[in-house]
Amino acid sequence: MKITAITVYQVDLPLAQPYWLSGGRLKFETLDSTFVRVDTDAGITGWGEGCPWGHTYLPAHGPGIRAGIGTMAGFVLGLDPRRHLAVERAMDLALPGHLYAKSPIDMACWDIAGQAAGLPIADLMGGGSRTPAPVASSVGARDIDETRKLVESYRARGYRLHSVKVGGDVARDIGRVRDMETIRQAGEAVLYDVNRAWSRQQALRVMTATRDLDVMFEQPGETLDDLAAIRARHSAPVSADECLVTLQDATRIARDGLAEVMNIKLNRVGGLTKAARIRDIALAHGIHCFVMATGGSVLADTEAMHLAASFPDDSLLGVWACQDMLTLDVAPGRGPRCVDGHLRMSQTPGLGVHPDQDRLGPPVATYGNRP
Ligand code: MG
Repeated sequence: MKITAITVYQVDLPLAQPYWLSGGRLKFETLDSTFVRVDTDAGITGWGEGCPWGHTYLPAHGPGIRAGIGTMAGFVLGLDPRRHLAVERAMDLALPGHLYAKSPIDMACWDIAGQAAGLPIADLMGGGSRTPAPVASSVGARDIDETRKLVESYRARGYRLHSVKVGGDVARDIGRVRDMETIRQAGEAVLYDVNRAWSRQQALRVMTATRDLDVMFEQPGETLDDLAAIRARHSAPVSADECLVTLQDATRIARDGLAEVMNIKLNRVGGLTKAARIRDIALAHGIHCFVMATGGSVLADTEAMHLAASFPDDSLLGVWACQDMLTLDVAPGRGPRCVDGHLRMSQTPGLGVHPDQDRLGPPVATYGNRP
């Protein structure tokens, strides 16, 4: 089987509500998403999506995905999409780094391989858990009253796992953490997500002031060096998110004991092929994981669900799904949907959901010969 064409679409995915991160310093209203259709000479078509959650969140760029695909396409056309490592090597040779530009092609190739094998991607990866995955809420940076209201609205929809965004003013953060802990219900898990916003001394002030509580902080500093620098001076468990990009980052986190949890974002780490290695590093070191796409439509959420289903159930803390924050649905009603705070894995071979092409608009680029 050979890849004969790569067709690229750009879609703006509007958020239902403006969203603030990192203590309010980052605001998002629309996500720039890239959809990729990969055709083969076997008549099987695969789809991928890459959506880096705006261009201020990570060193990743929507237009950069499309430029990167233009650079890599000539190296990928003609390859067998079922040979993920060959496709990965070709992309890494054509364009070192720029992992976020590679994930949509990687995803489309896994979709094709799954369809060819008659298996959902998760099964093809050797996993395939059918246990519904808990979906984390996403409680944007707000004050105590708004935090309570948002958490209550998620609870009403069945969510028991909450990602409460903090980071910014130290006193306000301490107040919000302490208040949230007073309303946390039995069976609920809360992750206080700093999204890199604290300096080292701010992190230590909040973590020291909440030492009597059993709480976990995600990405309480900018870099792995920051996490390492504060590590010996607090006792709170930590989740590594934005600073986990490469396999080398994962090995350092594991070797140096920098975090108890890894948050694997598929677009950021370069897709399923690279994420599977990070998963294995985590599992080999007793590190639990969150899994998510980064942003995007139900296609991206479905990709995340397949990786999540390749974990042993007790090593997966949960997933996050962007779909409920968007006002545009490119595959209405199809694919895994958040029901009662959980996502259920698709049983369909391959990815299991493709977009309605008329919702994507005309392609912005085509490489190779489309059938
Ligand atoms: Mg996070």
